[in-house]
Amino acid sequence: MRPSLLNPLFAPVTTLSGVGPKQDKLLRYLLDRSETPRLVDLLLHLPASVIDRRARPKIRDAAVGTMVTLEVTVDRHRPPPPRNSRAPYLVYASDDTGDVVLTYFRSPPGFVEKLLPVGEKRYVSGTLALYDGIPQIVHPDRVVDEAGFAKLSGIDPVYPLTEGLAIGSLRRAIAQALTKLPDLPEWISPEVLRRCKFPPIREALTRVHVPVELTDILPDGPFWSRLAFDELLAGQLALALIRATLRRPAGVRNAGDGHLRSKIIDALPYALTKSQREAVAAITEDLRQPVRMLRLVQGDVGSGKTVVALLAAAAVAEAGKQAALMAPTEILARQHIKTIAPLAERAGMRVAILTGREKGKERRELLARLEAGEIDLLVGTHALIQDDVIYKDLALAVVDEQHRFGVRERLALTSKGAAVDVLVLSATPIPRTLVLTYFGDMDVSELREKPAGRQPIDTRAVPMSRIEDVMDGVGRALGAGKLVYWICPLVDESEAEGTEHLTNATERFESLQKRFGDRVGLVHGQMKGAEKDRVMAQFAAHEIGLLVATTVVEVGVDVPAATIMVIENAERFGLAQLHQLRGRIGRGSEASTCLLLYKEPLGEMSKARLKVIRETTDGFRIAEEDLKLRGEGDVLGIRQSGLPGYRIARSDIHAQLITQARDEALRIMKDNPKLKGERGDALRCLLYLYERDEAVPLIGAG
Ligand code: ADP
Ligand code: MG
Repeated sequence: MRPSLLNPLFAPVTTLSGVGPKQDKLLRYLLDRSETPRLVDLLLHLPASVIDRRARPKIRDAAVGTMVTLEVTVDRHRPPPPRNSRAPYLVYASDDTGDVVLTYFRSPPGFVEKLLPVGEKRYVSGTLALYDGIPQIVHPDRVVDEAGFAKLSGIDPVYPLTEGLAIGSLRRAIAQALTKLPDLPEWISPEVLRRCKFPPIREALTRVHVPVELTDILPDGPFWSRLAFDELLAGQLALALIRATLRRPAGVRNAGDGHLRSKIIDALPYALTKSQREAVAAITEDLRQPVRMLRLVQGDVGSGKTVVALLAAAAVAEAGKQAALMAPTEILARQHIKTIAPLAERAGMRVAILTGREKGKERRELLARLEAGEIDLLVGTHALIQDDVIYKDLALAVVDEQHRFGVRERLALTSKGAAVDVLVLSATPIPRTLVLTYFGDMDVSELREKPAGRQPIDTRAVPMSRIEDVMDGVGRALGAGKLVYWICPLVDESEAEGTEHLTNATERFESLQKRFGDRVGLVHGQMKGAEKDRVMAQFAAHEIGLLVATTVVEVGVDVPAATIMVIENAERFGLAQLHQLRGRIGRGSEASTCLLLYKEPLGEMSKARLKVIRETTDGFRIAEEDLKLRGEGDVLGIRQSGLPGYRIARSDIHAQLITQARDEALRIMKDNPKLKGERGDALRCLLYLYERDEAVPLIGAG
């Protein structure tokens, strides 16, 4: 149960005066909530900048173009002439150094008269302009009397907004919410408070919303940092609490005697690389421990993560338990089952696939077999976490290309078994701070080597003006029986998967088809799954030689015979994405070529990206350069430097705080794992405030 102390903060915003159904809707959108936001959501919505109204010059000294607050006396009004509503309402005002005109367009009747009564003194703030040589403020931001002025700090917070939501009404709502802030206990330890010089929570919240200095709202300043630390600590503590409750009952082990693994290894047409062997050994060891496994296998595209996952699943199957492998797309899931099924079946392991495409009777039968324990490894998409998917004894969840899934999906999969071990596969090196944020202390295995016999990829940047030469080259390659990818970007990078614009790909497909006839195929994200598979299979079987594709081939698709890739509008792709795309070639024993077709002129960023991608195929180096060019947030595919699921902490600015929050959480787990006593109560408060209280019921009352 949430501590009652916090209840006022969890009241809906509609209990504030001035917040009605219309504001409710806008605030839901702004604060990204499906239900009416609560006061806490408002308080954790922090300003993006400030307006400084502290400059209080005399009219004569006020600089044009700057934000000023003038102390004036209202001299006279000049309303617009009747029948000319487009003319402004002018108010003439002055101080002892000069005159100023306050201008209002289309103001409601009576509005100006009430705001600026003739003969009264007012404080007026806004940006000073010059019109016909006379100082003027158009629509002053603020007009207050003496009493109102005394209450202003002179610095106004500016919040991220959404269309239709006025800054003034958001400010008023937040100011009201602040008055409801209860006295919260201190949950940070005295040592950390001292070392980090954090202000108390009340001061932190107040100063970011009612800044006294311009620097009060800076994300790396003490107030914002304190709030970020709180949020991160809540996250780290929640992860640690969950992890601590996930010990296996004594005697339960998730790895068997190795008989399936050795059969699979014997059946492989290649030898495992050293790092693959090490990863498998580490995983097997984890599976034997009384604590749940939480391990990340990080390996560049083509480093062979799938077989590592299969061997992990085999270890679990040997112990008579089940494994699930969740991939982000249908193509990938099918790809996995294609690699896995022949190896698994030869070893006597039972595998199946479940995606959105398995329906009706087929699906029912599959689910029945799963529940009866007749499937050892189920491969699929997020269809694996649907409610009616019931495992007999799920012991291992493998999540491929993790960053495409939210934390919620990962939890949903692991909740389908008693104490599920988790293996995450990622081609993108995830920065350490992000691993910490989302997984807490996670073990990492790196697949640093490429499988033996891989040929280098020759990567070149070619301007669009030379597309005819490129087409000729593609023609020669097709004539020589080679397999070629031709990648077209989404029209707008911000468009989400599934809604991609198809003109580029379809138009290019048509023009290439005119030239090369039925040797050309097309795949894109809006095609039906079966249709996509059919085209991919034709490509793999050399029935078509040239595959035009959108970024659906980006992740994981494996046609080792493909040796040429043309990427059109390469300047529009991010570095990580280019690397992922290019990873589709250079997988076999033949040399490969990647042509980056770009539109001129190139911007600085695009130029830098194309340079990096030409210079190296090392995914770790590319990820590092990517970080430098774009910031950490984008590694997870999110803009700016936010952390998904976090409202205040930012990966770039608060990286230091992430490790400190982790350390603090570990100390708490050591000294007070049941969150007892006063400090324990305070920490519970923190967990509920940031809604990271999932684990609280597991540790009992304080
Ligand atoms: P990724 O890490 O990108 O998921 P995959 O698991 O899809 O890579 O493997 C890429 C290709 O490399 C597959 O065709 C796979 O059969 C092959 N492969 C995996 N391990 C080795 C190895 N040790 N030696 C040679 N080829 C390998
Ligand atoms: Mg893969």
